[in-house]
Amino acid sequence: MSVRTRFAPSPTGMLHIGSARTALFNYLFSRHHRGTYLLRIEDTDRARNTEAAIQAILDGLEWLDLRPDKPIVFQSTREARHAEVAQALLASGRAYLCFCTPAELAEMREAALAEGRPPRYDGRWRNRDPAEAPPGVAPAIRLKAPREGETIVHDLVQGTVRVANAELDDMIILRGDGTPTYQHAVVVDDHDMGITHVIRGDDHLTNAFRQMQIYQAMEWEPPRFAHIPLIHGPDGAKLSKRHGAQSVVEFREQGFLPEALCNYLLRLGWGHGDAEVLSREEAIRLFDLDGVGRAASRMDYAKLTHLNAVWIRQADDGRLSTEVAKRLGRNGAPAPEVLTRIRALMPALKERARTLNDLAASAAFLAHAPALPLEAKAQALLTPAAREMLQELAPALAATDFTPPALDASLREFAALRGEKLGTVAQPLRAALTGSTSSPPIDAVLAVLGREEVLARLRALA
Ligand code: GLU
Repeated sequence: MSVRTRFAPSPTGMLHIGSARTALFNYLFSRHHRGTYLLRIEDTDRARNTEAAIQAILDGLEWLDLRPDKPIVFQSTREARHAEVAQALLASGRAYLCFCTPAELAEMREAALAEGRPPRYDGRWRNRDPAEAPPGVAPAIRLKAPREGETIVHDLVQGTVRVANAELDDMIILRGDGTPTYQHAVVVDDHDMGITHVIRGDDHLTNAFRQMQIYQAMEWEPPRFAHIPLIHGPDGAKLSKRHGAQSVVEFREQGFLPEALCNYLLRLGWGHGDAEVLSREEAIRLFDLDGVGRAASRMDYAKLTHLNAVWIRQADDGRLSTEVAKRLGRNGAPAPEVLTRIRALMPALKERARTLNDLAASAAFLAHAPALPLEAKAQALLTPAAREMLQELAPALAATDFTPPALDASLREFAALRGEKLGTVAQPLRAALTGSTSSPPIDAVLAVLGREEVLARLRALA
């Protein structure tokens, strides 16, 4: 039987990186086994679901290159089928009508809590005749769950987990208003979609017992479950805003590359020897559930940033230039000559950038007209004597061929004639041309800016 996985987000807000990792694991597992990866949007909670949240999920998956293999299934379109299965369970005697009113259920709950018992439904309609139903109550359908024995899940990550059936009450599968509960809808959909492996966060482990009981009642073969540990903050607490970015969009805005984020999320909770930097192809080749650990993962932003720098160095220069231009061109696209400069200097610029935002900041000088803003350290280098020296350098540069080797030779000659070290000339020159004290090699900067622009920037300092 070929593997079929699904990512089943509820569209209640942003695409969290924990969810992104769940999607990634489902994707990689299905690809590794040459199977199919599906997307089901669990949009049955109409009060909380928004179009914007659905769009955020789709955009995030698109950016991460985790698009599903088949058309998206919207759970809300399947309510008739959920009801049909609930009715089938009713007809076969595996479920029953419960006419409890909300007040009655609240009372049952309070009584249990007062006696120190867990608040479970007491099964009062399990064997009662519906003819005794009070008027005006729309009945819910409850599963007639086994009372004896245990429910066992052989989880591919957590191992064998079991619960005594006495601990589980008869859950509602279809509410009085005809809408399915989460547990029921998930089972019906996973069955109908032919899902063979349910890979999701371990906060759903207890749901697996409930869902297993529905599979058993329908005599359907259950999928294999794999509950993966959640992502915590660096301090081990639940990942929250105070730790840093949590949603895929935030990472994108902070200048992370999707392949770096995927690489990081893969390594978080899954390991294969010492392999750190993994392309999508390698990940597909190596990924399997036996490499997923059981302990909660801790988000390490510094490690992610380090991986991002590695991926930036490997990325295509044209693509990086487009990303930089987007960031620099907030008020319209940069001029064509600026794009040419960014592209030409990219091999050197990307060596020092950790994020696309860093990269854009380090390229900003290329887009500035003279006189450009100076960082404090650059300002400090540009003493009156240094400015005078640069005015003397200008005619020498004007007479130089604007290629890196010729420019380098010319700077060395100028320094030698004055009995100075190259750095004494190059540092103030860098400050004058880039507004900063760090940049790619000065000969490359000069060549990319071009004679006219260099002379204009030096003149602006006089
Ligand atoms: N919709 C659930 C969620 O977003 C996931 C359900 C599942 O994977 O079974 O947490």
